[in-house]
Order: sequence, then structure tokens, then C-alpha cells
Amino acid sequence: MSQADAVAAFAETRFDDTVAELARYLTFPAISCDPAHQGDVRRLADAIAKDLKDLGFTNVRVLHLDGALPSVSAEWLTAGPSAPTILVYGHLDLQPVKGEPWETDPHTAVIKGDRLYARGAADDMGGWVSHLAALRAWLAVAGGPPCNIKLFIEGEEEIGSPNLERYMDTFPDVFEADVMVLTDCENPAIDIPGLTVSLRGLVEYELACEAIASDIHSGLWGNIVPDVSVALVTHLARLFDADGRFAFLRVEVPEAWRQAARDIPLTPEVIRAGAHLLPDVEPLPECGHHHTEWIWRQPACTIVSTTLPTPDRQKNALRARASAVLSVRIAPGQTRHDIRACLEPLLLDRPTGGVRITLTERPGGAEAWLYTPQGPAFAAADRAYVKAWGRPLVQVGVGGSIPFVAMFGRRFSKLPLILNGVMDPETSAHGPNESLHLGIFRKAIAANVHLYDELARCDGLR
Ligand SMILES: [Zn+2]
Repeated sequence: MSQADAVAAFAETRFDDTVAELARYLTFPAISCDPAHQGDVRRLADAIAKDLKDLGFTNVRVLHLDGALPSVSAEWLTAGPSAPTILVYGHLDLQPVKGEPWETDPHTAVIKGDRLYARGAADDMGGWVSHLAALRAWLAVAGGPPCNIKLFIEGEEEIGSPNLERYMDTFPDVFEADVMVLTDCENPAIDIPGLTVSLRGLVEYELACEAIASDIHSGLWGNIVPDVSVALVTHLARLFDADGRFAFLRVEVPEAWRQAARDIPLTPEVIRAGAHLLPDVEPLPECGHHHTEWIWRQPACTIVSTTLPTPDRQKNALRARASAVLSVRIAPGQTRHDIRACLEPLLLDRPTGGVRITLTERPGGAEAWLYTPQGPAFAAADRAYVKAWGRPLVQVGVGGSIPFVAMFGRRFSKLPLILNGVMDPETSAHGPNESLHLGIFRKAIAANVHLYDELARCDGLR
């Protein structure tokens, strides 16, 4: 048995203790978006810092910035200057639970079958606790891990990491590392470990149609004066194909990526269950592109609001103005300028009925991100996952935008970024009855044990 195998075996013997430690953190309702719970975010940060000190971490700090919720940082640098340093990122704050149909108390960990239910169980308390468990096992069996570890546990991820960049600027030493392990992402199935390599971006536009100065009688003027409501829906229809998908800017995805995507079990049954499809409604046809490609690698457009007349405003009149807000998911490899250059001629040329049309970009949004994992750290990660999961990491994407990932991606694009986690398609992160699959948690701990070992024995990281 190798030393790392012995460490993994030890971690396995204290798995119940690790679950109990996780359960204690889950009792803190650390909901960052709710001012009433921001004290809980602070209390949890303090509790984590105390535990890290007791465990033997050095330079343990609850980091503060004006107007920001705290984050926790700590170091374990006993492997020495010749060993690589790994930064582990996780977050301690939670999504709200108000109004959600939870079957058990969201802030009490409850095990049913293979899963542990509680808000934050998988997003993201289980993510970084899996590293603490690996580290404890290295400490018990070998006196410490074979590489240096830095921890950064954020307190504002669930509100979009508004101060993460400031934390990076103010405390640069916290983020100085050779490899980053960002552990807040999903596995495509309970037996397939995921490595996140892309995010879609987001940009919003308001499309407005105007024709007359005020509402007028539809019986007296309809058929000779343009109807802005009709103009709005016909302009919107220009954007979509017969299946209702955004019809433009389709991306050529590499054949190797497509082949790998076929392994990911996003089947009609999984979609049916996950999206709560009605019994007689089918997922959209794949049209030669795997479902994963449609959500991770192709652009999409959703109409998120309109000012079309609602039942409470019904009247027989032509309206003065109608508008819609479009939310466009930007495909990896594309920018918001590509989206605008595509939409402008489609929506502004040949206006229906000659109405006045404007297209206004709304503030905010995010750029897409696409990462090519290569080099010895990823080979090391694959070896670790083969030992713990029985198979290497499978590259996956995210259809949405995660601000902290994009931020790390921009600032540390030259470093190996290993984006993994303990979520799976049944986790229901951000929803009621969030849960962590205990088999994944076990394998995540073992994978971390082997990851430290494999990275320590890897040339070319320092
Ligand atoms: Zn998260």
C-alpha cells in the first residue's frame, strides 16, 4: 500500500466524523443576501477560523474589507519551498431558503438513503470540508500533506462575489500559489467526476417599439396605423428557429469535444425529471448537437420580461409603446460585441409597419469563459481521480455565469485551474431540499488525498 493509499484508508475510517463536522457547519444559516443573517455569516467565519487554528493551520485570518462580508484564509506550508502550493477556494455563505418547500429543516443535516440534506450541503460546505478531511488524514498518517496548502473561503459567493477582486488586490499573498483548486462545481453524474472548463456569458438588451404618441381606438385606427405589440412579437420571432432556439451565431465545437460529450448522461429522462417537463412535452430535438452542447457551448436567448398588455390592462386600443427585455447567454469564444453585431441588423432593419425601434444594452452581465486544461497538473489530477473514482475527470461546462470563476479565470489564466466540486444533477443547489451525495463526498475526500500526493510528485509546477 502506498502512503497515499494509507492516508485515503485513514480518511475512510473517520468518514462519519467528517460528516458530523460538516453537519455542524450546516447549522449556521449563513445567508449572505439577507441582512438578518449576515451575523450568521460572520459567526460561521469565526467558527471556521477557530477550527482551522485548532487543526494546526498557520496565518489563520478572518479577512475584512469595508462594506464586505468576511472571508477566511489560512496556510499549511510545512511541505517546504520546493513543494508546490495549492490554493483551495470554497465559500461558506448560503442561498436563502424562504418560501421553499423543504421536507426537513434546511439548517439541520438529515441523512436519507445516500444523501445528506441541508442548505449548503453540496454548495459549497461539502466542497471545502472534503479538503479539510483530506488534510486531517495526511496529518494523522504522515505528519502533514506533501504539498503546501492555502485556503480561501469566501463569504459572498452567493451574492455574486462583489468584493472578491478587492480581496485579491488587498491580500495578494492569500492567492499566491502554483495550482488553484476551485471546489464549487458540479459532477455530471454520481459516478462521473467533472472538470469545469467553460461558462457562458450574459448580456441583456431592451427592445422597444413605438409608433404613436398615445393609445388610440383599435376599431377606428387598426389596419391603417402600426400596432407596436404586433411589431414587437414579429421582431422577436426573427431571432428564433422553428424549435424556438436562438437561430444565429452557432458555434463550431471541436469534434473531440463532441465525442467526449457523448459520455455525459444528459438523457431525455434526466432532462424530463430535472426540468419538470409535463408528460406530453419532449425536450427540444438535438439536431446533431448533444444536449450538453446546447447548454454549455451554444448561445441562447430568453425573453425575460415584456410590457405587452396584461389582462388587468386589457382594452380595445393600439398602444403607444411595447418593449421586451432579452437575456442572451453568450457562447464561450464569443463576446457581447458579437451578439450586438448580430442583433442590430436583425432587429433594426426593415421595421414591421415602419415602427420606431430601439435596442439598448442594459448594464451588468458577464463575459463567457473558455479554458484549455493542459500540462502536468491536469495529468496529476486525472491520476488522482482514477485512484479515487475509477475514472479521469470529464470536461464539463456551465450554462450560466459564475462571477468568481470568471474572475479567477481572468486573473490567474496562466496557472492550472482545477474546477471541481461535490454537486451532481440531483443536488438542487439554490432550490429546496438541497443535498450532497455521500458517495461523491467519500470519493471527493479520497481524490483530494491523492491530488495532494500527485501534485507533490509532479515536475514543472514551481
Ligand atoms: Zn456555490
